[in-house]
Amino acid sequence: MSLLEMKNIKKSFNGVEVLKDISLKVEKGEVLGIIGPSGSGKSTLLRCATGLETADAGEIHYSGTFGLVFQNFNLFPHYSVMKNITDAPLKVQKRKKEEVYKEARELLKKMGLADKEDAYPCQLSGGQQQRVSIARALALHPDILFFDEPTSALDPELTAEILKVIRELAMEHMTMVIVTHEMNFARNVSDHVIFMDGGVIAVEGTPEEVFDSSNERMKEFLGKFN
Ligand code: ADP
Ligand code: MG
Repeated sequence: MSLLEMKNIKKSFNGVEVLKDISLKVEKGEVLGIIGPSGSGKSTLLRCATGLETADAGEIHYSGTFGLVFQNFNLFPHYSVMKNITDAPLKVQKRKKEEVYKEARELLKKMGLADKEDAYPCQLSGGQQQRVSIARALALHPDILFFDEPTSALDPELTAEILKVIRELAMEHMTMVIVTHEMNFARNVSDHVIFMDGGVIAVEGTPEEVFDSSNERMKEFLGKFN
């Protein structure tokens, strides 16, 4: 069964159609990579999938819960790392404090941040902040994790550490939808790839099918990375 299915999704802003009849499925354990030029509708697609935007037409079927990791980390600046991670499990999910803290410490260790639980976001590098936001998303036990350009605010070295963390999650069979401009990463980590262009899925398939596609727009897009 698909964890997420979107059928014939349309979305306009101020009369401009930004998503034009998008349909996709995400299966359990699958990594879906979404690539495409700026303005092609990738973020809007994720925002519709996760309910941050309401689609104008179409159907979204969703089984389970999801977590979100954004480009700009979106940590609460006035909360410590620990409070950033534990706040929603405690207040929204009403889970037990001991259990939530124990798990948060395990997540921080896994993210290489065992010594940072009392730090504030401003005391951390961008890469560390992004790893905290991944830990925060994982603390809610999501069935799917959505990433919207998780490395585009980071320099290459910090980008590599985030990509490594996401690769490890993929090896643990975490179901993920990842919008990224890291083409090698998208090719290596994804089971299925979607190339968005002008609000439509212009090419989709296995990484090989998409990256080796003869679609002119796809070739033009990839050319910008070489
Ligand atoms: P991408 O993530 O691929 O760069 P977006 O989904 O962010 O693309 O944007 C697609 C188009 O929709 C762009 O032209 C953008 O300006 C427009 N858009 C996105 N969000 C809004 C909004 N809240 N209000 C008006 N226009 C928007
Ligand atoms: Mg975007």
